[in-house]
Amino acid sequence: MIPFPFDYVRPASVAEAIAALGEHGDEAKILAGGHSLLPLMKLRLAAPGVIVDLGRVGELRGVRDDGDMLAIGAMTTHAAVVDDPLVRQHCGILSQTAALVGDPQVRHRGTIGGSLAHGDAAGDLPAVALAVGAELVAEGPAGRRTIPASDFFIDYLSTALGEDEVLVEVRMPKLGPGWGYHYEKFNRVAQAWAVVGACALVRRENGGIAEARVGLTNMGTVPVRAGTTEQALAGASADSGAIAEAAAHAAEGTDPPTDLSAHADYRRHLAQVLTRRALEAAASR
Ligand SMILES: Cc1cc2nc3c(=O)[nH]c(=O)nc-3n(C[C@H](O)[C@H](O)[C@H](O)COP(=O)(O)OP(=O)(O)OC[C@H]3O[C@@H](n4cnc5c(N)ncnc54)[C@H](O)[C@@H]3O)c2cc1C
Repeated sequence: MIPFPFDYVRPASVAEAIAALGEHGDEAKILAGGHSLLPLMKLRLAAPGVIVDLGRVGELRGVRDDGDMLAIGAMTTHAAVVDDPLVRQHCGILSQTAALVGDPQVRHRGTIGGSLAHGDAAGDLPAVALAVGAELVAEGPAGRRTIPASDFFIDYLSTALGEDEVLVEVRMPKLGPGWGYHYEKFNRVAQAWAVVGACALVRRENGGIAEARVGLTNMGTVPVRAGTTEQALAGASADSGAIAEAAAHAAEGTDPPTDLSAHADYRRHLAQVLTRRALEAAASR
């Protein structure tokens, strides 16, 4: 449980952080809340030569109203996201889900940017970012670029971020009043990682469902959308029969892992059950 030796730099701005990444190349690794990186370093599964600690980069913290989007600084902690009035008002699904991440210590140190940049398919927030249609803003030596969540998660613990880039902002579209939402998480013990999670967003119109979006956690190497379920619900009635029928397709096209927590078949079953529950809650919200 003792990491390999490493050097440590603590930039005061994004520009300084990018310069440090450029100076040290693939030796360098960004440190945000440390709640995923430090365990990997202690197990010696990660051995960066230089740690670039974003802890003092104040410009990366906080939530800003930006028209039809919320702009959330990458270093905003899960706890701050949970409590933020703008997030609660305009993107309640993020607030609800962030409250289910780990325990209070994890939520007070871990950050939204770290969760997404880490790219762990078992993390709760990637599925939410995917379902909501978030945009991730990366800054590097060539300036800023915006990456849709659908293009961001490449493979297990692998994202579209370059080695010389910092994730600076997570942009979440505001969900209008017609949207209901719910994140349903199944874990083996309280406050643990999801065995499977389902994020449901439902837009109601004239008593029926106009549009539904479902993001799934831990059903592959990256978060995935339950496309067949979503298609089945477009224009469907909002009764429990229609929802159950659509949710039965939730695992289609997924490739869940078998590990110590669950067999892949059990995960497929969970995906259907959790999607049904999440959709029912979202449709009645
Ligand atoms: C006991 C425990 C329980 C947990 N339970 C859950 C859970 O139930 N659900 C869940 O979703 N998560 C859980 N987590 C993980 C937690 O959410 C972490 O906060 C998160 O995965 C990583 O965020 P971090 O800020 O700690 O990032 P770090 O650990 O500091 O960094 C993680 C990775 O992202 C990179 N990175 C971080 N920030 C940036 C950035 N701005 N730009 C570019 N790269 C960056 C780092 O270089 C590193 O590779 C748990 C963690 C622990 C220790």
